[in-house]
Amino acid sequence: MNKSQTLGELRASGWIYRSVKKELMENMVARMTAKEILFPGILGYDETVIPEMENAILSSHDILILGERGQAKSRLIRTLVQLLDDWMPAVGGCEILDNPFAPICHECRIRAVEMGDRLPIIWIPREERFGEKLATPDVSVSDLIGDVDPIKVAEGRYLSDERVIHFGILPRTNRGIFAINELPDLSEKVQVSLFNILEEGDVQIKGFKVRLPLDMLIVATANPEDYTHRGRIITPLKDRYSSQVRTHYPIKREIEMDIVDQEAQANVSSDRRVLVPGYIKEVIAGLTFEARQCPEINQSSGVSVRMSISNYESVLASAHKRAIRLNEAEIVPRISDLPAVFASSRGKIEIEYAGEDQTEVEIVDRLLRRAIRGIFDRYFRVEDLEPVIRIFDAGASVEVSADSPSSQYKDFVKQVPVLREALKVLGLSDSPGQLASATEFILEGLHLNQKLNKELRKDKTVYKISPQAPKPKPTIKRERGEGFH
Ligand SMILES: [Zn+2]
Repeated sequence: MNKSQTLGELRASGWIYRSVKKELMENMVARMTAKEILFPGILGYDETVIPEMENAILSSHDILILGERGQAKSRLIRTLVQLLDDWMPAVGGCEILDNPFAPICHECRIRAVEMGDRLPIIWIPREERFGEKLATPDVSVSDLIGDVDPIKVAEGRYLSDERVIHFGILPRTNRGIFAINELPDLSEKVQVSLFNILEEGDVQIKGFKVRLPLDMLIVATANPEDYTHRGRIITPLKDRYSSQVRTHYPIKREIEMDIVDQEAQANVSSDRRVLVPGYIKEVIAGLTFEARQCPEINQSSGVSVRMSISNYESVLASAHKRAIRLNEAEIVPRISDLPAVFASSRGKIEIEYAGEDQTEVEIVDRLLRRAIRGIFDRYFRVEDLEPVIRIFDAGASVEVSADSPSSQYKDFVKQVPVLREALKVLGLSDSPGQLASATEFILEGLHLNQKLNKELRKDKTVYKISPQAPKPKPTIKRERGEGFH
């Protein structure tokens, strides 16, 4: 692309000015015509959120995205940047990236008259045409829009001269996309200024009226409950958002797992082979799904997809540590790695007042057991695992922990051929790590189905005979040190 360096060259090149909304709309139409993906990396919104976003862009609307935490709202907004032109010409040296054909700031208007076709042009890449502000009650008009610069006043300029204004982030994002996160947290005063500048193209700064007809797409986000809360948002600003898009959590567990796969920093720095069994991912996603249904957890703030992502990362870290300590070739997470989620779930959920008699860990532990049982029951019928239960009935017990070597499980599996069948059901092969992981999953599943007893000893878990079972025969008792005895 030929990038003109002066206004004269730009005019001769045939470049045509378009407003940001028109640019977005026309580029989107072009991509739709070419059947390109408009929102790459956004999963699970194909039939709900994305069609609404498309309609909003086609209608040149400012957009309000309503959703609980961790629903990819920011990501959705950043994806819009990809719909802008690769490069945009602006007046060189202008703080608000003025349109070369019709500058709005005082300085540029004067220079345009003085320099004519020699007015310098700079080219802005689309990534730089995005501004973002997290709204908090202490965000001020000067942060967002601008302030009177005392140095410029001291230089002898009068307050009626708009060159004394130091521009805030909003005017600096002129001709781009501006995102305000958590809109209801803006003070009323800032909301009024924001509305004035967007709607009327002017704003009062310290009693001084500045005319700034900015050109931008404004996208705001809010939690639905904060948004509807009376008086949190001034009515005229509410009216300005012609399109409201409601986001949601993944409807299917598979989507939650796909997002985890996409987002987790799973590149464990090691030459070891990393294999995360499907059921481990399902349990992690299942835990988040349970949390989203749990009455003791505050559902109006929500349970972010980030809970699944961090839990996945910490379970993988626990398995990685074992591989390092025991010098194992494979990294395969197991049930005994799952307690790692207690730390990574912390802060991702808010316990309701009514649930205060239970700690966060107790609640997460209960939900985790529910998730494991649900996933186990989808893979197995307890009847099919009778041979495993019989071994325990005969007096076996198995000791497992996050630190048990994977090789320790092999002897147990040898005794119970049905476990090899189970491996197939789980889509695993019989490497030591996979055997260990599958064994733990089955033992825990049987325990949660009340078929085996479980005893917690320090950092170890011991699975034993069920209480209803007949008395053990001492014949199968084995020696210590073989992992089960
Ligand atoms: Zn300017």
